Amino acid sequence: MQPSEEVKSKLALEDIISERVLLKRSGGNFKGLCPFHEEKTPSFMVSGAKQIWHCFGCGQGGDIFGFVMKYEGIEFVEALRILAQKAGVILRKQDPQLRSEKSTLFDICEIAAKYYHQVLLRSSLAKKARDYIFLERKITSDTADTFKLGFAASSSGTAKDLNNFLLKQGFLQQDIVKSGLIIKSDRGFGFFERFRNRVVFPLFDQMGRVVGFTSRILPGQDDGMGKYVNSPQTLIYNKSELLYGLHLAKEAIRKQDIAVVVEGNMDVIALHQAGIFNVVASSGTAL
Ligand code: ZN
Repeated sequence: MQPSEEVKSKLALEDIISERVLLKRSGGNFKGLCPFHEEKTPSFMVSGAKQIWHCFGCGQGGDIFGFVMKYEGIEFVEALRILAQKAGVILRKQDPQLRSEKSTLFDICEIAAKYYHQVLLRSSLAKKARDYIFLERKITSDTADTFKLGFAASSSGTAKDLNNFLLKQGFLQQDIVKSGLIIKSDRGFGFFERFRNRVVFPLFDQMGRVVGFTSRILPGQDDGMGKYVNSPQTLIYNKSELLYGLHLAKEAIRKQDIAVVVEGNMDVIALHQAGIFNVVASSGTAL
C-alpha cells in the first residue's frame, strides 16, 4: 500500500475537517460553512462514506489531502507528513518526495525539542531550571510535556552536545546551521549553540510542528544576551506569522468563537493549565 493510501484508510475525513470547520450531520453526510468562500448558509458537504468533500457554492472539492493542502496552503508532501503523523503511519526517510529542505528543518527542530525536553527532565545541569518551572511557576509535568518545555544546558559556548547529537542523527552540518540552533563562528573556530543555559520553549506552527524556539534566562542570572533569545527567521519560521499556542487553541477558539491574546508564552501555558484553552500569545510581535 502506498503511504498516502494507508493514511486515507486510517483517518476519517470528517474528523480531519471537523478540526477546522464546524460540521453538522445531515443524513449520511456532514455539512458546514465553506472555508474557501464567504457564505451564510452551508453548502460545504462532506461524505463520510465516500471520504470526499465538495462545496456546492464555489465548486471546489477533493479528498483528505486536497482539503489539508488547500486549507493550510501547503504542498502535498507536507500534507502527507501531517496526516501520516496523525494516522501513525511511518514514512520512510529515503522516500524521495520527503527529502525537501523544509522537511529536514522540521525534523531537526522536532528532534532538538525532544532533546531539550529530556535535558530539562533528567540532566543534573537542569536542576535550577526544574526548580523554576515546576516549583516557582508551578507548571505540572503534563503541561511541560504538552508544551515540550526544555532546557539548553550548555554554558561553555561550544556546541559539543546538541550539534553532535544532531550530526549523529544523520543531519548535515549545513542544515543544522540553517535551523538556527547552531551558529557557525565567523572567526572560523567551529560552531556554538544559540541557546545556552536557558529555558527553551519550542514554537509550534498551527499544525503543531516545531518551527523554532524562544528561550529565557533563569531568574537572577545575566549572560549579557538579554532576557529572551529567539530563533532567527528560517525557511520554516516566520515570527510575524506565528501565534504561540495556536495549535492547541484552534479548536477551542472555533467552538467559542473568541480568542484571547496574551503577551507571553508563560501566560498561555498557565491559562492552558487552568483549563482555559482559547488562548494564544503574539510572540513578542506587535499586532
Ligand atoms: Zn465553497
